[in-house]
Amino acid sequence: MFVTTMIIATMTFAQAPKPVIIRNVTPLDAHSGVMATQDVLIVDGRIASMGQGLAAPSSATLIDGTGSFLSPGLWDMHVHLSYDDRFTGVMSKLFLDYGITSVRDTGGKLERLLPVLDAHYTPPAKAPRVFFAGPLLDGAPLVYGGDQDSGIGQSVVTTEEARLRVQQLHKAGVHFIKIYEMVTPDVFDAFVREADKLGLPIAAHVPLSMLASNAAPRVQSLEHLRNVEMDCAADAEALLEERREMLAGGRENDSDGMSLRRSIHTVQRNRAIANEDADRCDRVLASLRNTIQVPTARLNAMTQHPPFNDAGWTDVLSTLPASVRVDWIKAADYMDPESYRKQGEWTLQMLPRLVASDVTIGAGTDTPIGWAVPGYSLHRELEILVKAGLDTQTALAAATLVPAQFFGLEATLGKVAEGYRADLLLLQQNPLEDIRHSRSIRAVISRGAIVRDYREEQ
Ligand SMILES: [Zn+2]
Repeated sequence: MFVTTMIIATMTFAQAPKPVIIRNVTPLDAHSGVMATQDVLIVDGRIASMGQGLAAPSSATLIDGTGSFLSPGLWDMHVHLSYDDRFTGVMSKLFLDYGITSVRDTGGKLERLLPVLDAHYTPPAKAPRVFFAGPLLDGAPLVYGGDQDSGIGQSVVTTEEARLRVQQLHKAGVHFIKIYEMVTPDVFDAFVREADKLGLPIAAHVPLSMLASNAAPRVQSLEHLRNVEMDCAADAEALLEERREMLAGGRENDSDGMSLRRSIHTVQRNRAIANEDADRCDRVLASLRNTIQVPTARLNAMTQHPPFNDAGWTDVLSTLPASVRVDWIKAADYMDPESYRKQGEWTLQMLPRLVASDVTIGAGTDTPIGWAVPGYSLHRELEILVKAGLDTQTALAAATLVPAQFFGLEATLGKVAEGYRADLLLLQQNPLEDIRHSRSIRAVISRGAIVRDYREEQ
């Protein structure tokens, strides 16, 4: 199993795709903005050259890019490919259809995830690039524990275990690790040291036993802005003490991790938001400067932006398996918008403050959790980020340059430039003018191959 993984992690598709020449197109990216209209030649999965009147091999597929824009392919920085079996067959296709050419799988047990990846990468299947973490590295009691279907967490309670676990995951070919909320500060420290040693980036939730400002500088990304509000409170230190007591009590009573986490958030979250100390919060935000924040705004702000109120939601739902559709429609009836309202408000007002504090934002959705249709939900995330106050260039960076930076791949992914990997979107309209134009997709190129051509369907 683990041998297979290493192969999967590095493999690309067997046959090299035919060259592609896109004539007279306007390239754009978050680094250079809108560039001069020109030709773009793609050979062997890379952008071979860009310029006026390029010569192209006679075997090249010609795309007339007149009037179109060429953007880097998009990333979803927070997905769970193996969370729900019903998505296995449709997820990679949906990602590519919506122009998502890379994803970061932020938690899935390897024994479930690896067969899914096998299917993704077996020709003639087409799939986005997948960067995966393996299981959520959690403490005790586990939030997602037991043998339940979504049991994507693993309990690690000693520093020695933490070290070994990271080594095993590294051998198994993971691209990063994911640290979860129930870990203790010393286990967190052991995870970080070992991951640093092995060169693995870290995505984390702020552990409940720690302050965001202490955890953030040691990891490369933080997810959902979770537990940041608690560090912004005037009585943050007292809240931390209270959380540690609740956690110790929960461990003693063998509580269910999900319920324990919920009760901690119920007791502290809104209280912390109401009791924010602006100066303290500025210091907390400054501590986030070297750590990408993946706010999953569409998930946090479900009350303010309910997915099922979107125009065209029924059409989007129709792309999902029937049983998912039925469940999601039912679940929407039971959603209590009030229970999410405060956290949504807090997230939306925090976004422009993060940008003003020079904190880097990454775009992620948590699909398929919380009515997130794979692919489609990333475009909604971008729209919500811009509505909250990000400019379009920062939003585009959040789904292109920033995720590439997380993996140290910014020299090959995330820009439209010579030598870069050819993961590209041909768009009818300019997303830097209006971010919703990220949806005006005419064609999707992944690893140099045209994987979706909507022009044929128009
Ligand atoms: Zn997640």
